[in-house]
Amino acid sequence: MKIKSKLPDLETTIFTVMSALANQHGAINLSQGFPNYDCDPVLKDLVAKYVQDGYNQYAPMAGLPELNEQIYAKIARMYGAQVHPANEITMTAGATQAIYTAITALVQSDDEVILIEPAYDCYRPAIELCGGIPVPYELSKPDYRVDWAALESLVTPRTRMIMINSPHNPSGTVFSREDMLELQRITDDTDIIVLSDEVYEHIVYGGAEHQSVLRFPDLFARSVATFSFGKTFHNTGWKLGYAVAPEYLMDEFRKVHQFNVFSVNRPMQHALAEYMKNSDNYLSLGSFFQQKRDYFLQAIKTSRFRPITCAGTYFQSVDYSEISDEPDTKFAERLTREYGVAAIPISVFFSHKKDEKVVRFCFAKTEDMLEQAGELLCKI
Ligand code: PMP
Ligand code: GLN
Repeated sequence: MKIKSKLPDLETTIFTVMSALANQHGAINLSQGFPNYDCDPVLKDLVAKYVQDGYNQYAPMAGLPELNEQIYAKIARMYGAQVHPANEITMTAGATQAIYTAITALVQSDDEVILIEPAYDCYRPAIELCGGIPVPYELSKPDYRVDWAALESLVTPRTRMIMINSPHNPSGTVFSREDMLELQRITDDTDIIVLSDEVYEHIVYGGAEHQSVLRFPDLFARSVATFSFGKTFHNTGWKLGYAVAPEYLMDEFRKVHQFNVFSVNRPMQHALAEYMKNSDNYLSLGSFFQQKRDYFLQAIKTSRFRPITCAGTYFQSVDYSEISDEPDTKFAERLTREYGVAAIPISVFFSHKKDEKVVRFCFAKTEDMLEQAGELLCKI
């Protein structure tokens, strides 16, 4: 039988491709973003307890009320916003589902969606599946900053959504308050929805404050923000996250969510609700990863890779143009095969495959692994 593909040109996600290649060649895997160490035993014990105690049936559709309350309290404390725990927060199967659900609920056929590229790879296919039209705005090395006037020139009467991601994967840049005010200015008095992917909200460096859309009431009034427990609590395999949006947008979000997953893992929601009562469990994350970033930078200091400034996320991108002029996909492949370290080529995050000779390393790893990788990278 012949079927018509909805995504005829789509390839397997680079994270699957590079992790498989790393495994195949026994390379140190600094490609796909996940820690190589375990999450807190306290959190694991809590999951075990709730499973044993019989909390094994469906959670409520919007999330376990105790967990929604914890998120409400965290948002109030960190961003000064009062969102409604029951009506404006929904637990999801990771940020990926939150993003997919938000786009499915809010983007219609022929709507334009402005993407800031390099853009995380799940954004574009979700837009295309809805019949939406991705409109890329390209950032450039080494600073990957948005020129808001240039971005504004892409806005048309058909623009339905602008997607942002700060701290930014893969560049590690972080939006300032001025960036957010520019976004607010551009969207003011329009029907544009902002989808703000904030999965690295706690991973910002140098004592900077994460500029969530939740800090800006006028901006939040048109926004859906997405978050991931996996990034915050070192358990990407649990695939739990959440979305926050004003009620009129969350109502639409839930129309899709209820038939997309209905609800997500219950015992883990109980465990997270209890674990989050201690805010040190997430507020310490910036200094935890800053140490790893600095350790990795030290380990590659004498190499020919030129680091791109990383102000947030657990990714260090590097410019390899002093080493090779190969396309980044080829270089990343050869790095894995011949030198034993796997990385992500950045061009895959551009619609037009812009190749600036930059690859991304994940430093959410033990010092031991970072040191070994550093030794290999310094020999190139
Ligand atoms: N957005 C960005 C920018 C990411 O890096 C990731 C990867 N974790 C996600 C969304 C997806 O998060 P999750 O694993 O919770 O689905
Ligand atoms: N977010 C992770 C990264 O950027 C990958 C998650 C995935 O494999 N889908 O590496």
